[in-house]
Amino acid sequence: MTNETPQVVTIAGSDSGGCAGLQADLKTFQNRHAFGMSIIVALTAQNTLGVQEAYPIPNDFVTSQFASMAADYQVRAAKTGMLASPSLVETVAKNLKQYDFGPLVVDPVMIAKGGHALLEAEAVQTVKDYLLPLATVLTPNMPEAEVFLGYSVESAQDMIKAALDLKELGPKNVIIKGGHGHGAAACDYVLLEDGSSFWMASPRIDTINTHGTGDTFSACIAAELAKGTPLKEAILIGKAFIQAAIADPIAVGHGHGPVNHWV
Ligand code: PLP
Repeated sequence: MTNETPQVVTIAGSDSGGCAGLQADLKTFQNRHAFGMSIIVALTAQNTLGVQEAYPIPNDFVTSQFASMAADYQVRAAKTGMLASPSLVETVAKNLKQYDFGPLVVDPVMIAKGGHALLEAEAVQTVKDYLLPLATVLTPNMPEAEVFLGYSVESAQDMIKAALDLKELGPKNVIIKGGHGHGAAACDYVLLEDGSSFWMASPRIDTINTHGTGDTFSACIAAELAKGTPLKEAILIGKAFIQAAIADPIAVGHGHGPVNHWV
């Protein structure tokens, strides 16, 4: 075995319930045949009913995890998830600047489906200032785009404007996820670095097993990028993967259960 195995790291929060967060990311990496690693930024006590408690990791220990990874692995791509606080966002951004971990997928996780804040409100500006300029791909859902931009994102026109405005903040490519929209199809809008754009539509699936969908989608894109898949193809694979994973849910827990990472 050489160092050519695709290596991908998630920089994110832990979901003790195994549906979202870095657990969803690692399961997705495994499915995509990329070697997955994790830099843990926060812990949550969580199940399918919600997030009961969250516990941020000390900044220095986050930095230590970056150093361990950089000293021994050839990280080909990275993604970020739950980053909890302004100082943790700054720490993660500082380390990402120091080490070359390849293309970066930023999933701007803000609020869990049950309503628990996974990013302090004051950290939104820190994400804009420090993290968005480092992003190869930014993957907000419609409510997250609204928080960044301060206007409502509901229609297709809003999504197109939001992608353009978010791209101004630094990310090379932007995907506005339409899962929170209405209508028979879930439509995501993709704006690429060269200014070209396209829509990805899939039938809206009526299910409560959507816990960890955003994490899984962004993790799939990161895994593909680690394997050297061209960006547009990686995004299309991400869409197909999350669609299949939602369509074939797993019966676990009593609330918003997981998608199927075995698909
Ligand atoms: N918990 C952690 C640690 C996460 O990273 C995420 C990601 O979004 C969630 C919970 C929320 O998952 P969901 O909004 O899909 O319930």
